[in-house]
Amino acid sequence: MERSIPKRGEKRKAFDEALRAGLEQIDWYCKHHEWTIFLVAGGRGVCKVCNDVRNEITNARTTQRYHNDPEYYEFRRKQISDALAARLSIPGQREEINAYFRKLHSKKSQIDPQYVGQKREYGAAVTWRTKGRNLAEGYSERTLPAWYSREKEALQKLYEPRAYDDLYERDHLIARNHKKVTGLHCWANVVVVFKKWNRWKGSKFDVTNDNNRWHRPANRHSGGAFDPNPTLDEQKLIRKLWTEEGIAIEDSLRILRDSLDQLARTYEEHVSKIFGMKLPVDPAWYERCNRPEGIPLEAFKGFDEEPAEKAMHAFLRILN
Ligand SMILES: [Zn+2]
Repeated sequence: MERSIPKRGEKRKAFDEALRAGLEQIDWYCKHHEWTIFLVAGGRGVCKVCNDVRNEITNARTTQRYHNDPEYYEFRRKQISDALAARLSIPGQREEINAYFRKLHSKKSQIDPQYVGQKREYGAAVTWRTKGRNLAEGYSERTLPAWYSREKEALQKLYEPRAYDDLYERDHLIARNHKKVTGLHCWANVVVVFKKWNRWKGSKFDVTNDNNRWHRPANRHSGGAFDPNPTLDEQKLIRKLWTEEGIAIEDSLRILRDSLDQLARTYEEHVSKIFGMKLPVDPAWYERCNRPEGIPLEAFKGFDEEPAEKAMHAFLRILN
């Protein structure tokens, strides 16, 4: 049913009534948004969407000022820490605040992968800064790479939950705490890897190992980091997963491919954002995923008798 546009004077009456009834919001007519949610706002009646837009502009201005005006920055920091201290001095407040944030966190984590990515990445960055074994004397923490702020968004994406998270984990390719090297918390050094492979690898460091896809150039071409053909280590692992845990080879290959596709996408988006250029995506990448010749069958030979046959069947199913 179409509602007609309210006439002059009707708004005041409606919102006075809503206020008396103790309502927080009612449906009303906005000239920008037509019939929509209005906040009663003490009887004033404010379009929620219009109000959100206004708030966003004001908040953005305040954020700008916070970061650019040192005096205002100090003022706000003090205001916030004073308010927090006052709050925490009330018995039971700390527990209440903690409980509130725990609840908020679990609720947001359930519905917003981006939020999870941000939180996880933040945790990783803090760990990198503050938990270094080889922190130089006199420094209480390490400084993140200068380009960190430009990569942050892409890094957060790497930490977003994915469908195969029970099989994968994020790790720093070059160990963060090694006798000879310090791996950075940066895009090129954070990898999403098979948990099993990662456990094998430990914090070994070998730049000459071509078998490690994270030592290759970041592209989708044959021999690139995102080449869907499994490396020798991955082949070994896929074989192991199948013979020891019954995970079908085609499943492993699909997981590997989807995971690499996701990583490649994140990287391509990152590059296009930072450098304003589009990375050409090699159409053969998709062919290598789908074409029978694209999968190195011989790589999976060497199963003991029966499994070899099963493996071949598994592959034949992929080819169809
Ligand atoms: Zn409006």
